[in-house]
Amino acid sequence: MSLTQLNTPQRDAIHHLDGPLLVLAGAGSGKTRVITFKIAHLIRHAGISARNIAAITFTNKAAREMLERIGKLMNPGEIRGLTVSTFHSLGMHMLRQEAPHLGYKPQFSILDAFDAGKIISDILLTTHKEEVRKVQTQISLWKNDFKNPQEVLDAAETEFDAVCARTYQAYQDTLSAYQAMDFDDLIRLPVQLLRSHPEVLERWQNKLRYLLIDEYQDTNTCQYQMVKLLTGVRGMFTAVGDDDQSIYAWRGANMENLRLLQHDFPKLKIIKLEQNYRSTARILRAANSVIANNPKLFEKQLWSELGLGEPIHVVQCKDEEHEAEIVVQRLLAHKFEHRTDFKDYAILYRGNYQARIFEQALRNQRIPYQMSGGQSFFDKPEIKDVIAYMRLISNPDDDPALIRALTTPRRGVGAGTLEKLGAYAGQRQKSLFAAAHEEGFQHQVQPAQLEPLLDFCRLINHLQYRATREPAGALTLEMLQTIGYEAWLYDSEEPRPAETKWKNVLELVAWLGKKGEQDGKTLIDLTQTIALITMLEGRDESEVDAVKMSTLHASKGLEYPHVFLVGVEEGILPHQESVDNGMIEEERRLMYVGITRAQRSLTLSYCVKRRRAGEWLFVDPSRFISEIDQQDVKHFGRPGAEPLVSRTEGKARLANLSAMLGAKTGKDGST
Ligand code: ATP
Ligand code: MG
Repeated sequence: MSLTQLNTPQRDAIHHLDGPLLVLAGAGSGKTRVITFKIAHLIRHAGISARNIAAITFTNKAAREMLERIGKLMNPGEIRGLTVSTFHSLGMHMLRQEAPHLGYKPQFSILDAFDAGKIISDILLTTHKEEVRKVQTQISLWKNDFKNPQEVLDAAETEFDAVCARTYQAYQDTLSAYQAMDFDDLIRLPVQLLRSHPEVLERWQNKLRYLLIDEYQDTNTCQYQMVKLLTGVRGMFTAVGDDDQSIYAWRGANMENLRLLQHDFPKLKIIKLEQNYRSTARILRAANSVIANNPKLFEKQLWSELGLGEPIHVVQCKDEEHEAEIVVQRLLAHKFEHRTDFKDYAILYRGNYQARIFEQALRNQRIPYQMSGGQSFFDKPEIKDVIAYMRLISNPDDDPALIRALTTPRRGVGAGTLEKLGAYAGQRQKSLFAAAHEEGFQHQVQPAQLEPLLDFCRLINHLQYRATREPAGALTLEMLQTIGYEAWLYDSEEPRPAETKWKNVLELVAWLGKKGEQDGKTLIDLTQTIALITMLEGRDESEVDAVKMSTLHASKGLEYPHVFLVGVEEGILPHQESVDNGMIEEERRLMYVGITRAQRSLTLSYCVKRRRAGEWLFVDPSRFISEIDQQDVKHFGRPGAEPLVSRTEGKARLANLSAMLGAKTGKDGST
């Protein structure tokens, strides 16, 4: 590691050790780089042991990347014990060790948003998705604000608030009966624990002596409290962030936290970085001119030495199919012309639902692609089946997991028995698993119906005993054989999907085997790891030559040589709901994040008409396009502008052909 790879303010940030530091700077200015280099500096020159340092990133993927980058700066011995994780996995880690203080067992289950939504929908007695989502969001916001159900019920002004507050209470009761936590609990409960147990606080403050936090602008109140508690009066931390990239207000992120830092830590030093090392001057100018339309919190300037670069291409398309086709054609033509790799391209969009049509167009041209931030491997039904068993083995009180496991494949327990069990468990405030063992319930059902249920419980107990002793992969495979999962798949599906599903299951088994061996993790550890992976993104993807597809939210912090930002229309970006709710500034920041992912070229596309709920609607290009200085823009496809692909169309066909033949092309000359 050499500090010559940093500019002067970056070096200052690394040398500032004896108090809190905030690096506040625009996109691509090397904030994340400051964090990695600072970790190396802390270990090598400041005498802080790796095990006393924690770096916090926004996603698991970012954590992996950071660890990789640190691995390039230092050797493995030096970084042993270093924590690089998200707030959620740090919280989970703390809770695993401290659960009994909170009346939980260490093997608590972690429910994903889907399971949590299901509980809420059961409480509300509705399956209306939108209603459930609204209530769920409100509960989550309250939880992140440390409000308890009684408090919010007392303060409720509208009928909706009151319904949410009562649902919140019932929801919390259900979670504790299941020994389960949701994602919000993973931050909220550690904070409560640190507040109420001084000895626990002291232990963690001594353990994590230096904190580094990336993407600080997207922390919420809970996360901020966690930082404040952990760093204590010493305030030994470095936070880096960009107020213009705050895009998680809808999940409770609070930009005020940037100001709070100044208030709560009067000694806070602020360092600004102004040189951007990522993008050409034109891309940067486009980003700056769009964001200039938002009111400024902090004054920032960004400049780049990477040359003026190509104008931003703005492409008008007829409709969404046409857009997908044109984007793919232009991508191929560009690849052919510049001799780049597929992995140099990213297609970014506002919402996951936009991806499907681009996937289809890419597949038609046999272009390899990788999705992130979309439906992940762990969301596939067959994978969720196996995970349900894993969750149940870790924590038999996890009712949603029990119901799924007991019914896939069916274990001979009838619906009537399950209903009686549910009613009994509800009355007694017990989990289903615990209720099944009580005499009061057992008297209510016939022995012939009880026996399969008890068999199932014995199987789970037996597996639980072995789960702490045996390798996770092999044990899972054996369990699948015991329950006859493969045969059940083939019985209930057409052969083709069954085969694909079984292959996915085997991939999971292999992953468990590998993880278990590498990191010495048991099936129980891995169950909790998976819950965290599913929160924001897919699993580790190895670096392959594929076009990256991602939502704007999931692209935060990343960079790609060539970016296609699609669906840049009123109603999509900015999103209609945000326009209606006066959240246009957040949408503009999202646009800013999108533009600043691009290193060398940026193409924005929009449609003239789009299908919505089965009807064709004429739509307008996004206001953000007109906010870009028009001297940096080149239009295609609209009257009087350049044709869509003409000049390169022939080449595109050729490129297409070469892609189909799998011919290897060379690297981009300009890299
Ligand atoms: P974002 O706001 O998007 O998260 P960031 O501020 O974290 O961006 P980085 O990702 O750290 O920026 O850096 C952007 C790019 O610039 C990276 O490729 C990084 O390696 C490079 N970079 C950062 N600082 C320097 C430097 N001093 N010299 C050369 N390259 C640099
Ligand atoms: Mg970054």
